[in-house]
Amino acid sequence: MHESAGFTTSIVHSDRLDPIEHGSLHKPVHATVAYGYEDARDLAGVFQGTHSGYSYGRQVNPTVSALERKVSRMENGVATVCFGTGMGAIGTLLFALLRQGDHFVSSAFLFGNTNSLFQSFHVHGIDVAFVDATRVEAVAAAIRPDTRLVFVETIANPRTQVSDLAHIGDLCRDRGLVYVVDNTMTSPWLFQPVTADASLIVNSLTKYIGGHGNALGGAVTETGRFDWGAFDNIYDTYRTGDTRRWGIQQIRKKGLRDFGAAMGPDAAHRIAIGSETLALRLERQCANTRALTEYLDAHDRVAKVYYPGLPHHPEHDLARELFRHPGALFSFELDDGVDLFAFLNRLRVVVKSSNLGDNRTLAIPVAHTIYHEMGPGRRASMGIADSLIRISVGIEDADDLVGDFEQALAG
Ligand SMILES: *Cc1c(COP(=O)(O)O)cnc(C)c1O
Repeated sequence: MHESAGFTTSIVHSDRLDPIEHGSLHKPVHATVAYGYEDARDLAGVFQGTHSGYSYGRQVNPTVSALERKVSRMENGVATVCFGTGMGAIGTLLFALLRQGDHFVSSAFLFGNTNSLFQSFHVHGIDVAFVDATRVEAVAAAIRPDTRLVFVETIANPRTQVSDLAHIGDLCRDRGLVYVVDNTMTSPWLFQPVTADASLIVNSLTKYIGGHGNALGGAVTETGRFDWGAFDNIYDTYRTGDTRRWGIQQIRKKGLRDFGAAMGPDAAHRIAIGSETLALRLERQCANTRALTEYLDAHDRVAKVYYPGLPHHPEHDLARELFRHPGALFSFELDDGVDLFAFLNRLRVVVKSSNLGDNRTLAIPVAHTIYHEMGPGRRASMGIADSLIRISVGIEDADDLVGDFEQALAG
């Protein structure tokens, strides 16, 4: 396979680029924690970094390494570290790169658990400013002399705000800041953050990349765009080799190894299989999302629909510039007269469930579930109405989905 191979060709054939046992077309599941060596000098060499090989399952596993190479290919990055969950990836990344007294700027429109995690970092002495990342000016205004890093998501969940990704990338480059983009909502099929000059890319592999809702996983990918030579927080031990890889080196050692949020080989296998159809699934999911949002936007029992693909969305033009499609997740508010729970209970095809990026279409009443812990004050400040419903659109037939909403709204 040549370097110019297309997205899906590259994923489907990536395992074969390395020697693979018995010609197996899938990277085997290496259910092992430890690796033995005939010559003790080789074992020592592995630990000293002079001999290539595997040390211990918390840091490396061949099945997980194969998935890491696949994710690097998808994101056009130089190296990837996988974690047991997306939250494991985000928490470990910040833990490995920031220190007490550091400051970072984050989008205010964040996955709820990431928001909660960042508040914990604040408690532990790493300060964070939450800003409206749809405007680069708001990010610029929050930068201080002790700012180290900027963190944004591509499309926020559940209200679908789109970050000003390319301009924030320019800003971070000018100011020498690490730029972290959580690409979970778009996945590398809809958007490659390296094109916006991201330094590090986060993906929750649990969502679109795995795609089947059957395994948890997360990843951090180094794009090679950031020169870590000028970043003070790299420990002397990791100041060796190519300066463009110092960050991911430290994340693997100080982060994955010491913190231990490792991915297991079974999850890596499932996610690798799921990732083969990422582009096919998302094409269908985005087409379904377009059909559903256009239907609901015109319905008189629906008050508002939030989806960057709709012309009235505030970042509609930005989303068109940045993304192949405007994603497969949207949210909407029912008219006052429609009972939220009765409506949800009338849905027959759509499943009432959390998670997103599954093959099945999933609906969740946001204020009563994933944003419940925040309380009414913070929900109001984030624009989360009590009747807001989030829909993660699956691969079912579009007519069945539209028909399901039609009968549930009519009831
Ligand atoms: C789900 C999600 C995460 C966390 O991923 P897990 O695999 O559930 O830990 C992080 N960021 C975004 C945008 C997500 O949607």
